[in-house]
Amino acid sequence: MRFSVAVDGPAGSGKSSVSKAVARKLGFDYLDTGAAYRALAWLALEQDIDLDDAKQVIGLLEHFEFQIGLDPDSYFVRVGTTDVTEEIRRPRIHSAVSAVARVPEVRAYLNSMFRGLIANGSRPGIITEGRDITTVVAPDAPVRVLLTASEQVRQSRRARELGKPLDHEGTKVGNRDAQDLKVVDFINPAPGVTVIDSTDLTFDATVSALTFIIQEFLGREG
Ligand code: C5P
Repeated sequence: MRFSVAVDGPAGSGKSSVSKAVARKLGFDYLDTGAAYRALAWLALEQDIDLDDAKQVIGLLEHFEFQIGLDPDSYFVRVGTTDVTEEIRRPRIHSAVSAVARVPEVRAYLNSMFRGLIANGSRPGIITEGRDITTVVAPDAPVRVLLTASEQVRQSRRARELGKPLDHEGTKVGNRDAQDLKVVDFINPAPGVTVIDSTDLTFDATVSALTFIIQEFLGREG
């Protein structure tokens, strides 16, 4: 089993960009679990299904041909032959994704796919990020981190990322968090999970903090 790092956090906490940068630095794979939920939401919108009907959402899994790049230098997301890397970042996905993510059968299906990707791979380690990685997907990972930041900071980071004003719909992280919190708790750290609060940290300092925690663990073990 290769080295596994689990990172959770709310929307806009910077967990994707931080995890990707640390994976690059350490020569690890990087797994963005949110991309799978987003890709499924994309498929739901493509097929115009009723998002309130769990049976229809579960039905999507039968023909969900999901592929994701784990190499932090060549990240992509595909559904079948369609590249959806950019498309799944659009605000229309934000309003649909929480609806697919609350279906337990969807979570069970994706979690077993994530565990397969974590276990198998040629790189020495993998950093997996999402909402329930430290608690459900990889609770046995030797390094587990909760990356947080104040809501104000997360919202302004998201706005900068999207190039939109602060009051733009797509930048509102609070609504999505409120929906997602009904399903998994990614605000309070589970026992044994280290918290990195990036409210007052630069991006580079946050990357260093996570790298330090991993290297400290590897040094202790090696
Ligand atoms: O992390 P990201 O913002 O890309 O996640 C998109 C959505 O996918 C979240 O708002 C949440 O509904 C869902 N998600 C989840 N569990 C995960 C990762 C993402 O429910 N491990």
